[in-house]
Amino acid sequence: MISLAAESGFLIYVLFMLAGLGALAVRDAWRAHAHGWQLSEERVVHCEDCPCTYLVRRGVKVVRCPRCNALHSRRRRWS
Ligand SMILES: [Zn+2]
Repeated sequence: MISLAAESGFLIYVLFMLAGLGALAVRDAWRAHAHGWQLSEERVVHCEDCPCTYLVRRGVKVVRCPRCNALHSRRRRWS
């Protein structure tokens, strides 16, 4: 049987706990990097003249429908 002093056993226990916490921190950092928040930079526009729906970048104020070529401005609510 392996004889172990109380101080050595406690030290090994603390080292295993720190290694486990370190592994959880690395896993959490990896998950946050892989599945982080991303803001949408596009808006959905529904054309009023035809049934076309398309995406427009957020900063664009005037856009033409790619199907019927009608102008749509941002003054009206897009979606
Ligand atoms: Zn259209």
